[in-house]
Amino acid sequence: MQRLKGQKALITGASSGIGRGIAIAMAKEGAQVGINYYKNLEGAEETLKQVEANGGEGIILQANVGDPEEVEGMFKKFLDAFGTIDIMVTNAGIQKDAPFLEMDFKDWQQVLNINLSGQFLCAQFAAKEFIKRGVVKDRSKAAGKIICMSSVHDIIPWAGHINYATSKGGVMMMMKTMAQELAHHKIRVNAISPGAIKTPINEEVWQNEEKRKELLELIPYQRIGKPKDIGNTAVWLASDESDYVNGTTIYVDGCMTLYPGFIGNG
Ligand code: NAP
Repeated sequence: MQRLKGQKALITGASSGIGRGIAIAMAKEGAQVGINYYKNLEGAEETLKQVEANGGEGIILQANVGDPEEVEGMFKKFLDAFGTIDIMVTNAGIQKDAPFLEMDFKDWQQVLNINLSGQFLCAQFAAKEFIKRGVVKDRSKAAGKIICMSSVHDIIPWAGHINYATSKGGVMMMMKTMAQELAHHKIRVNAISPGAIKTPINEEVWQNEEKRKELLELIPYQRIGKPKDIGNTAVWLASDESDYVNGTTIYVDGCMTLYPGFIGNG
């Protein structure tokens, strides 16, 4: 049986990497998916192609998640197409790296705007839609599910990436506060914190064998993650199987957060 049959899921940043992995995994489980992208239309089309190849259905939605008007427009199009929303995955994110002392304020603001405020805006729109549905009679079903994309750097500091690590630390506390405020509406809010997943965001690591080996050293489980690893976790968090899981973070990181050199850093 498909675990998300008939559910409508909106996934931001689904033109690439982890967002694409989630869209495909959810479509395989019967969800209709909204594939958000910002600049990479070709990537979004490729995601839709793979969704359809897996027997799923999707629509493509262009929007900058850091812009409230564009987020509103994206929700309108999603609701016009699917009528309602059951699952919101706030996944879109970027990196603009520099050491603290050299970081341009614009890069600080841009990363916080997309990685943190973008997740806030999408989660808030989705939560308002979930609440409109009223009381859910079945006690083992949520009125809606929000899944935030965090990172192991919500607890592991990351020199050279202060804007990114700060955004993810913020996502963790935002997720927990949303969960507290929304639980009585039967809305579940959780986060996934990926470790090292092979996607374009960390392309410079995959191009450099030495960097790749250094990274692997930090992963006790000794393998790099795949978008599918995150997709599978997101499916479970969105399904009724995880109905009593609320306000928590799942680290999907091959034990990276327990690497001895990191312990105590968080
Ligand atoms: P990716 O392949 O670079 O994908 C990033 C996605 O975000 C793209 O679809 C991109 O869309 C979208 N995006 C960027 N700015 C946007 C904006 N303003 N509005 C809407 N969408 C926007 O990176 P990824 O690795 O899949 O990352 C996805 C999420 O996972 C991020 O939140 C990242 O922080 C998190 N994460 C990744 C890793 C990892 O190892 N890969 C680890 C921990 C956490 P366009 O290309 O169309 O602009």
